[in-house]
Amino acid sequence: MRPTGKLHLGNYEGALKNWVALQDDYEMFNMIADWHALTTEYWGISGLHELIEEVAIDYLAAGLDPENCAIFVQSDVKEHAELHLLFSMITPTSWLMRNPTIKDQARDLGLIEKDEEITSINYGLLGYPVLQAADILIYKADAVPVGEDQVPHIELTRQIARRFNHLYKKVFPEPEALLTKVARLPGLDGKKMSKSQGNVIYLSDSPDVIREKVKTMFTDPQKVYRTDPGDPEVRGCPVFSYHKIYNSSEATQIEADCRQARLGCVACKQILAERLVEAFQPIRERRAKIEGNQGFVEKVLKEGRERAEKVAQDTMTEVRFVMGLEH
Ligand code: ADP
Repeated sequence: MRPTGKLHLGNYEGALKNWVALQDDYEMFNMIADWHALTTEYWGISGLHELIEEVAIDYLAAGLDPENCAIFVQSDVKEHAELHLLFSMITPTSWLMRNPTIKDQARDLGLIEKDEEITSINYGLLGYPVLQAADILIYKADAVPVGEDQVPHIELTRQIARRFNHLYKKVFPEPEALLTKVARLPGLDGKKMSKSQGNVIYLSDSPDVIREKVKTMFTDPQKVYRTDPGDPEVRGCPVFSYHKIYNSSEATQIEADCRQARLGCVACKQILAERLVEAFQPIRERRAKIEGNQGFVEKVLKEGRERAEKVAQDTMTEVRFVMGLEH
């Protein structure tokens, strides 16, 4: 996750929830990607230190256990930068130019115009999947739990691993993307939930903020009054998508009531807001405890760094050797 702001429900449903679920079965490295944040905000991220801490608190509040996994800041482990440099030598530019995620991101952020070619973006943004490949492969990861938009990047990581293994020696596994059931959570407006779109509910939002935000959610545009029959599935109502996730036992009834004009959007949103408040109550409780524990986050990040650094250094010794860089 990039520390460009607090984490939202999309980050949680698409990735973080899986990290929490997998931590007992895998050796896991959970990074806060500060260098990656600069790929789109290269002029500088104000309050970076606080943002990093916020993301770390989001990780812990979601249920990551620092005894079980390493939680660390990317720029604390400089080996990532060295491996990125070495991977950049073997990555054809054409692999990066056709990456759909970066094109969408650059357009959404206004870095390029709708029909403009990707060549006008900064080199760091174009090359960020190469840095990401280094982030993943430096730990020889078999699996990467991410949201759906990241799948092209994991494919690129596999290609880079394959090319490296072919050119030098088999050092890296080809990691698989692990997706959750909700690999693409819509935002309040029905588009993909994303910090840059301002359509997010944060993991740290209070119950009242959640209620207020849910009130503003888009619904089926053809259902104006309660007495208009809705079509939540076909016309992509995000409120209904949320009911299926957070209120699954009532979702079938809600769909029937919406279609038969027995349930209005205001009432439908009120039910959803309460389910959301309940679903994220345990995370808010853990957050309160962590925030009251002075020095805890700093300690977690220091220990995480030490754990990550050890593995990263071993991999780099091997990489330098097979590339003939030891002297
Ligand atoms: P953002 O788009 O808010 O800047 P990031 O690009 O930093 O989020 O994404 C961090 C992680 O969260 C990635 O694994 C990404 O796939 C996942 N993610 C982000 N938004 C969503 C979403 N709406 N639904 C599912 N997963 C998401």
